[in-house]
Amino acid sequence: MSAQSQSTTNPCPQVETARRLADEVLFPTTVATDRGGVIPTAHLQALQDAGLYGIFSSESVGGSNLSSANRDLVIEALAGGCLTTTFIWQQHAGPATATALCEGEAHRYAAGLAKGETRGGVAFAHLLRQGEPVLRAEPCSDGWLVSGTAPYVTGWGNVDIVLVAACWHDSVVWGIVPGIESRTMSASMLELTAVNSSSTAVIKFDQHLVTTDDMTSVVPFDSWLESYRMGLRANGSLALGVTGRCLSLLGPSDLDEEYATARHRLDTASIDELPAARANASDLCMRSATTLVAASGGGAVALSHHAQLLARQAMFLLVQSQTSEIRSHQLSGSF
Ligand SMILES: Cc1cc2nc3c(=O)[nH]c(=O)nc-3n(C[C@H](O)[C@H](O)[C@H](O)COP(=O)(O)OP(=O)(O)OC[C@H]3O[C@@H](n4cnc5c(N)ncnc54)[C@H](O)[C@@H]3O)c2cc1C
Repeated sequence: MSAQSQSTTNPCPQVETARRLADEVLFPTTVATDRGGVIPTAHLQALQDAGLYGIFSSESVGGSNLSSANRDLVIEALAGGCLTTTFIWQQHAGPATATALCEGEAHRYAAGLAKGETRGGVAFAHLLRQGEPVLRAEPCSDGWLVSGTAPYVTGWGNVDIVLVAACWHDSVVWGIVPGIESRTMSASMLELTAVNSSSTAVIKFDQHLVTTDDMTSVVPFDSWLESYRMGLRANGSLALGVTGRCLSLLGPSDLDEEYATARHRLDTASIDELPAARANASDLCMRSATTLVAASGGGAVALSHHAQLLARQAMFLLVQSQTSEIRSHQLSGSF
């Protein structure tokens, strides 16, 4: 039995589907996807056809409203198939959830997002950066004018809309912008050593108008930060997924027990314990990948080899969705 399949009990149908897609569709082409520079459209279509874009949406808008525990398992399963595809798809959670909850006009996006007919990205992690806000919003007569830089927007070219967070005094202004360039929005693609095919762009905004009809919410920064800290569990599933794939390729090892413990810690952590559990999961992911490299010998360094790909992905997961608290645990080694 693989490390991945040992890990969970009573999965819901979406988890079973995600595991099947990971093994049969995503993993067989993950090396080619990584080298190709863009994601095969068939990958995202396969996730849409399987209803997996709907797992972030409530039933009232046509989604499947999975429990967070099952959602985490879907993310983990897909990440073990192809992290790049999973990372693009996962960004959809932001706009799908925000528009489903929104009581204003932006709620009109929710049904299309639940079906995956409209695909979404998100730009918010810059809110955690130290210093002056990089993206700001100012109220105007029709809504809000957004200016500055969104440093990372994954899935550019694969998404129809992007949920953007901009700062206004002590509040965060959330709104939907189109997934295409315009006079007030310009994109430049990043060249990356890992998940390069995620089509991650820097988006510059110059007084970009987000009309009231496209606003999802305005919330105090502190209350957003509190809810973000509560949501840190989900991204741990990316590290678990990559770890599970490394361990499956490696065969039985002492790391299998650490893998089960890492998931248990993420699943049972209080909000204050989550940063250490996240740091632990990304550290285990890195060690699992480097062990696979060592076990694979010189061939591991070939661009066609899974070990080098997984090692680069593990490196990315050290910083992806990193917070000050996670970073502090990583730097001190206290997890
Ligand atoms: C390839 C890629 C794609 C991404 N795609 C998206 C996306 O689509 N949407 C999105 O919203 N985000 C995205 N991100 C952002 C990602 O989720 C993380 O937030 C990001 O990698 C952390 O790096 P940073 O440069 O934003 O922040 P950094 O400036 O590197 O900081 C990381 C964390 O450490 C803290 N920190 C930094 N310096 C210090 C210090 N001296 N003392 C204490 N704390 C400190 C910061 O406050 C922050 O919480 C992406 C990132 C990458 C690399």
